[in-house]
Amino acid sequence: METIQRRKAERREIWVYLGREPGAEMICDGCGKRVDRVHDVDVRTIRDLPILDAAAWLSVPRRRVLCPYFGIRSRTPTNRR
Ligand SMILES: [Zn+2]
Repeated sequence: METIQRRKAERREIWVYLGREPGAEMICDGCGKRVDRVHDVDVRTIRDLPILDAAAWLSVPRRRVLCPYFGIRSRTPTNRR
Protein backbone atom coordinates (compact mmCIF):
# COMPACT_ATOMS: atom_id res chain seq x y z
CA MET A 1 0.00 0.00 0.00
CA GLU A 2 1.45 3.33 -0.90
CA THR A 3 -0.84 6.19 -0.10
CA ILE A 4 -4.07 6.76 1.73
CA GLN A 5 -5.93 9.98 1.21
CA ARG A 6 -8.88 11.33 3.00
CA ARG A 7 -10.89 13.54 0.72
CA LYS A 8 -13.51 15.93 1.85
CA ALA A 9 -16.28 15.57 -0.62
CA GLU A 10 -20.00 15.80 0.03
CA ARG A 11 -19.57 12.63 1.91
CA ARG A 12 -16.31 11.51 3.29
CA GLU A 13 -14.15 9.37 1.07
CA ILE A 14 -11.00 7.39 1.64
CA TRP A 15 -8.77 6.63 -1.33
CA VAL A 16 -6.27 3.81 -1.07
CA TYR A 17 -3.54 3.71 -3.72
CA LEU A 18 -1.97 0.31 -4.11
CA GLY A 19 1.59 0.21 -5.31
CA ARG A 20 3.19 -2.31 -7.56
CA GLU A 21 4.18 -5.57 -6.04
CA PRO A 22 7.94 -5.41 -6.14
CA GLY A 23 9.50 -8.22 -8.12
CA ALA A 24 6.18 -9.89 -8.84
CA GLU A 25 6.31 -12.33 -11.73
CA MET A 26 4.36 -11.46 -14.79
CA ILE A 27 2.50 -14.38 -16.30
CA CYS A 28 0.69 -14.11 -19.62
CA ASP A 29 -2.94 -15.13 -19.26
CA GLY A 30 -2.91 -16.42 -22.84
CA CYS A 31 -0.15 -19.01 -22.73
CA GLY A 32 0.71 -19.07 -19.03
CA LYS A 33 4.36 -18.37 -19.66
CA ARG A 34 6.51 -15.84 -17.93
CA VAL A 35 6.80 -12.57 -19.77
CA ASP A 36 9.26 -9.87 -18.89
CA ARG A 37 8.04 -7.05 -21.11
CA VAL A 38 5.50 -4.64 -19.72
CA HIS A 39 3.28 -3.10 -22.35
CA ASP A 40 1.59 -0.54 -20.18
CA VAL A 41 -0.09 -0.05 -16.87
CA ASP A 42 -3.71 0.77 -16.49
CA VAL A 43 -5.23 1.80 -13.22
CA ARG A 44 -8.52 0.46 -12.06
CA THR A 45 -10.67 2.16 -9.52
CA ILE A 46 -12.67 -0.19 -7.37
CA ARG A 47 -15.34 0.72 -4.90
CA ASP A 48 -14.63 -0.99 -1.63
CA LEU A 49 -16.74 -1.47 1.43
CA PRO A 50 -17.16 1.70 3.45
CA ILE A 51 -14.67 2.30 6.22
CA LEU A 52 -16.55 3.69 9.19
CA ASP A 53 -18.70 6.42 7.69
CA ALA A 54 -16.48 7.06 4.68
CA ALA A 55 -16.85 5.67 1.18
CA ALA A 56 -13.73 3.72 0.31
CA TRP A 57 -12.11 3.50 -3.12
CA LEU A 58 -9.15 1.43 -4.18
CA SER A 59 -6.85 2.51 -6.96
CA VAL A 60 -5.16 -0.61 -8.32
CA PRO A 61 -2.47 -0.55 -11.01
CA ARG A 62 -2.56 -3.45 -13.48
CA ARG A 63 0.33 -4.16 -15.75
CA ARG A 64 -0.34 -5.46 -19.22
CA VAL A 65 2.35 -7.64 -20.65
CA LEU A 66 3.57 -8.01 -24.21
CA CYS A 67 3.68 -11.72 -24.96
CA PRO A 68 5.61 -12.91 -28.00
CA TYR A 69 2.84 -15.42 -28.78
CA PHE A 70 -0.35 -13.75 -27.67
CA GLY A 71 0.47 -10.04 -27.95
CA ILE A 72 -0.87 -7.70 -25.34
CA ARG A 73 -2.43 -9.61 -22.50
CA SER A 74 -3.45 -8.96 -18.97
CA ARG A 75 -1.01 -10.07 -16.43
CA THR A 76 -2.43 -12.83 -14.30
CA PRO A 77 -2.00 -11.86 -10.69
CA THR A 78 0.19 -14.29 -8.86
CA ASN A 79 0.27 -14.50 -5.15
CA ARG A 80 3.29 -16.73 -4.90
CA ARG A 81 5.83 -15.33 -2.51
ZN1 LIG B 1 1.49 -15.56 -23.72
